[in-house]
Order: sequence, then C-alpha cells, then structure tokens
Amino acid sequence: MLEVKDLTVSYGLHQALRGVSLSVSRGEIVVMLGANGAGKSSLLRAIAGISEGQLGGQVDLSGTDLRTLKSDRIVEAGITFVPEGRGIFGDLTVWENLLLGAFLPRARAREKQNLEAVLSLFPKLHDRRDQIARTMSGGEQQMVAIGRAMMSDPEVLMLDEPSLGLSPLLCQELFQNLAHIREAGMGVLLIEQNAKQSLAIADRGYLIENGEIIGQNSAEAMLSDPAVQAAYLGASHGAQA
Ligand code: ATP
Repeated sequence: MLEVKDLTVSYGLHQALRGVSLSVSRGEIVVMLGANGAGKSSLLRAIAGISEGQLGGQVDLSGTDLRTLKSDRIVEAGITFVPEGRGIFGDLTVWENLLLGAFLPRARAREKQNLEAVLSLFPKLHDRRDQIARTMSGGEQQMVAIGRAMMSDPEVLMLDEPSLGLSPLLCQELFQNLAHIREAGMGVLLIEQNAKQSLAIADRGYLIENGEIIGQNSAEAMLSDPAVQAAYLGASHGAQA
C-alpha cells in the first residue's frame, strides 16, 4: 500500500536520509526505531509532504505518486500524520477537533462511520465532547489527536512518538488502542522511543541509524534480537517500567 523507495532528504549540505526504502501494508503496524537525530521525523515529514528539506526518491500510496502532491492532497490520497506534540487545535472543543479531521471530500462521505469507530475506541471523547482540547490531560489529548486523524479516513496513519509524556498506564492503553486501529484495516507507521511496548503490538520493524535503514524484521524477531535488545530495549524498559 505505502511504498517508499530510495528516499533521500537533505537540509542544505546535511543529508538526513539516504536511500530509505520501506513499505506498510493494510492492517499492518510497522515501527521505526532509531536514536535521536537518526532521521525518523524527517522520514514521516517527507512522506506527509511537509518536509523542509530537498527530497529525492519515490513515495507511492496504492499506485499514486505522493512526491508530486501537496500535503492536503496527500491526506486526501489516504495518509494522515500525527506529529510529535499531537498537533490538535487547543482552543477548539473535542468535538470540533474531531469534525475538522473530516473536512476533506474523501473523509466527508464516511464521517458518520468514522465517528462511530473513533467513539467506540475512545468512549471518553464522547463524554468530553464540549471540553476545550488544551484543558485535557496529555493522554486525553493524544486520544483527540488520533481520533481526529482517524476521522480523515486514512489508509495509512503515521504517528511520531505518540507515547511521549504519557504515564506507563496511559502508554499501555495507547498501544492497546493502536492494536485495535489495525483491526479496522488501516496501516500504521509508528515512530517510538518505547521499543518494547511498540514492538509488542507491531507486525514488523525497521532500524534507522544516521539516516539509513540498517535492519528490518518481524516485530517478534526484533524483540528477541540481542543487538536490538542492547540498543533499544534496555533503555526503553528502564525508562518506562
Ligand atoms: P528525534 O528522535 O530526536 O526527534 P529524529 O530521528 O526524528 O530525532 P530528525 O528530526 O529527522 O531525527 O533529524 C535528523 C537530522 O536532520 C538531525 O541531525 C537534525 O538536526 C536534522 N534536521 C531535521 N530537521 C531539520 C531542518 N528543518 N533543518 C535542518 N536540519 C534538520
């Protein structure tokens, strides 16, 4: 479904991504693991059409070439990005945030079904529908952000560190919710520091280092790979346990 081939991103002389290739299929959760500065956000921003860098390579979604499209057309084509820090409209209510997620034609036709799906996943958003979004807790705001992204009816949902700043309990809830999103047939491309919990719900994972993909495997194999354990699982376990 989402197919990235030989993607490069440069910021002036600094090459942040080199020849990155990856794929995400329907109903699949794919995790991208990498240290700070490895190029993870640059990757998602390039796919979403909001990169500040110079791009090379190919990004296709179900046969549509996304490289030629502006960011709103990319959402219309079926990719929605939830940036780090959530990107919700803080001064609007929960309900307004959700409905704004469905403003493009693609999403309008399925607004009712998608709203039902979001509310069955996050019933709290119905109870809090009139609350101003910025007054909600971090975990609740994350629900709004993911709910709003689901309202745009994506084929692929991209999330940049959604568990950042959440308590261990809320992290657990978040990952369980992401596992449910997959059941609806969406593909999920996830950047996470929390390697253990994200790999536990993922199907596959990639390792990115200095702008290059240096490994990929099933999530299960990655969880038991000593190199992955040493680099990502020890630290993440310590931070989140
Ligand atoms: P983190 O986990 O710390 O968010 P990351 O893996 O998401 O890191 P990126 O934010 O993609 O990494 O950054 C990759 C490299 O590109 C870094 O060296 C960063 O300083 C640089 N970079 C990112 N955005 C820009 C920009 N707009 N202009 C110049 N350099 C940038």
